[in-house]
Amino acid sequence: MATASDHGVPGEFDAQGNRKVTLIPGDGIGPEISESVKRIFAADKVPIVWEEVNVTPVLKNGKTAIPDEALHSINKNKVALKGPLETPIGKGHVSLNLTLRRTFDLFANVRPCSSIVGYETPFRDVNTVLIRENTEGEYSGIEHEVVSGTMQSIKLITETASRRVSEYAFQYARAVGRPRVTVVHKANIMRLSDGLFLNVAKDVARDYPDIQVDDVLLDRACLQIVQDPTQFRDTVMVMPNLYGDILSDLCAGLIGGLGLTPSGNIGLKASIFESVHGTAPDIAGRDLANPTALLLSAVMMLRHLKLEAHAERIQNAVLSTIAEGKTLTGDLGGRSSNTAFTDAVISKL
Ligand code: NAD
Repeated sequence: MATASDHGVPGEFDAQGNRKVTLIPGDGIGPEISESVKRIFAADKVPIVWEEVNVTPVLKNGKTAIPDEALHSINKNKVALKGPLETPIGKGHVSLNLTLRRTFDLFANVRPCSSIVGYETPFRDVNTVLIRENTEGEYSGIEHEVVSGTMQSIKLITETASRRVSEYAFQYARAVGRPRVTVVHKANIMRLSDGLFLNVAKDVARDYPDIQVDDVLLDRACLQIVQDPTQFRDTVMVMPNLYGDILSDLCAGLIGGLGLTPSGNIGLKASIFESVHGTAPDIAGRDLANPTALLLSAVMMLRHLKLEAHAERIQNAVLSTIAEGKTLTGDLGGRSSNTAFTDAVISKL
């Protein structure tokens, strides 16, 4: 059996040299938009085989957990594509998305954000990539009641986590040909914690003389990107967890919302690519869903796997179908079905 090292990412291949990728179709519209990805990948003869797994939660020690089969598949293949998962509501339930992130230590959340031709918003020429530290900061889960009526949540910033996400940001910038990394922070107020994040990022920058580095305060970044998104064109923005959570949704809003936004969660044990939107229960099962966000997430996954030519071809086919404007799903103002949109993309490969 071929090893994965020739593709730069560990994992498994079948006897024909096709990479095995775990597919979690997910809930609601997840299976429909996953089907669209499968059809388009098959039409483009992408050399991967899907290992489809179910993540319907099981109860372990009274808590929701991901079935072992799914964990085993991701562990082995190292790369997964995931549709949206319903978050169960109620005591004892934890978000499966959060569980996956913690289980595989997915330390960098990557959210490219580019204006989509054919889907006009008041903001033009948005073209940036946000990389969010995904494991600590305000989301470390260290909270307690100091005395009655006073709560304390600890913001944890470590050199280790700051360094690995900064290194990933510079490597990513270099790999995709972006000339600048911008560190987003509040080190003017959070002198120690954000100060450490900023200093570590600047230290990492020394190993990347081909990439410019600068930094911006979070509040100023929000103001500037809304006033003139071109100021962040061609940059990769790297930041602590909470800031990334907020700023990435703000940027998604600039290009038309979460429905079009892809993402990747990167770790050393595995990487999971997923659309940012939810399960859309209001349109599930009716062939109305727009598969663009999952398709663009799958394109990110292909780039991660160094399958550049397929990534480029599929991305161009998706974007030109939207730009043409003849076969759009309802969320983009059209009347076409997911199936018709998918057929149109396939005709452009
Ligand atoms: P949602 O994103 O599912 O839906 C919000 C609106 O956007 C709905 O009107 C929906 O029809 C529309 N929409 C979303 N994706 C679309 C697509 N691809 N094509 C066309 N229209 C689309 O948000 P919600 O209703 O708040 O959440 C529903 C469920 O999804 C909840 O259980 C929530 O926990 C879960 N969720 C999961 C993820 C994830 O797995 N990453 C993310 C967000 C929400």
